[in-house]
Amino acid sequence: MGPDELANGLAELSVQHRRRKRMVMQVAQGALAECEGQPCLNFAANDYLGLAGHPVLVDACIAGARRWGVGSGASALVSGYYDAHCQAERELAAFVGRDAALLFTSGYAANQSVLGSLLGRGDAVFGDRLNHASLNDGCLLSRATFRRFRHNDLDHLASLLEATPARTRLIAVDAVYSMDGDEAPLADLLGLARRYDAWLYVDDAHGFGLLGEGHGSACASGLADDRLIYMATLGKAAGVSGAFVAGGGELIEWLVNTARDYIYTTAAPPMLAEAVRASLRLIAGESWRRDRVFAHVRRLGAALAVGEFEHPPSRMPIQPLIIGNSEQTSSLSERLRAQGIWVPAIRPPTVAEGRARLRISLSAAHDDDMVSRLIAALGDGGHGTAGDRDDVGPGSG
Ligand SMILES: *Cc1c(COP(=O)(O)O)cnc(C)c1O
Repeated sequence: MGPDELANGLAELSVQHRRRKRMVMQVAQGALAECEGQPCLNFAANDYLGLAGHPVLVDACIAGARRWGVGSGASALVSGYYDAHCQAERELAAFVGRDAALLFTSGYAANQSVLGSLLGRGDAVFGDRLNHASLNDGCLLSRATFRRFRHNDLDHLASLLEATPARTRLIAVDAVYSMDGDEAPLADLLGLARRYDAWLYVDDAHGFGLLGEGHGSACASGLADDRLIYMATLGKAAGVSGAFVAGGGELIEWLVNTARDYIYTTAAPPMLAEAVRASLRLIAGESWRRDRVFAHVRRLGAALAVGEFEHPPSRMPIQPLIIGNSEQTSSLSERLRAQGIWVPAIRPPTVAEGRARLRISLSAAHDDDMVSRLIAALGDGGHGTAGDRDDVGPGSG
């Protein structure tokens, strides 16, 4: 893409209904948002437990900033590793039942780092076809031979493992698939990893905080093994930012010494580590948040199951509604937004061609009435005959 080609490139994206634009948020984190000046219900965020704006997290940040300052000042290996990080890592490791944990600035960085640290030319990495883009990028950048297996197809994976001559092998999966909300069979995958002497790398961006009483997908399946590498992000259910990798002590020590996205980046602010510590206490202590979001999931799932569009079953707060073509998906999303309901349209290349969808994200921040409004609006295709929109938003009533 040369400097003269950008205008055409952008026009081409518009023609394909693939041009993205960012919404400027004008109100604080929560169930109510504002889209282009209009109040709306936010069914777009991954703040599944409603913690991102929680006053306890805000206070932890403020107290952390007062105590440690704002910036960390350097990478963790130089002078950016504070007691707040150290304590957060200990607490995270204990929380997911592993020996040690390491904080990263993002899940994207963690995925690049871990795969790059363990794999190189001549090794082999096997990824589920529906893995998140950050995991695919990590697999590609690792320089290992990268093979993708059919979604959740363990026979296909086993045949690839059987055939590989590589000495170091790694299986990489999302624990909960980010666009469908379905789950990976982790226990069976760990069985294959043992049989073929491979690592199992689990990206639990959408399970941490929710499954296993909040302790995550691996805990929910009762899995602990030094060949299982657990990664979870802290910007979704945990409501903060960043990510962590948990596993055996030697693995974490190896990452500290070799993970490029750990070594060559400024450490996250210590105040965020304090917010993470506060978040862990809320995840453990406020189980009503999980009860509430899962109650919304069951209600919406039942409504979508009898609706006009394909709804692959999901027991997670990610509820997909497959429309098919990008243009129809975008216009449904826009009609909903005109009614004060924000549900993002997810289009190729994020999902496969012909599988454009609405991705509805539920949260403990939503109340029953909000979910009722969503169900009513979806029920009439977003045409706005299901009810008035006057009761949305902070300025109403
Ligand atoms: C969001 C997400 C990531 C990236 O995490 P960030 O902390 O946002 O960089 C990685 N994997 C999956 C499955 C995700 O959904």
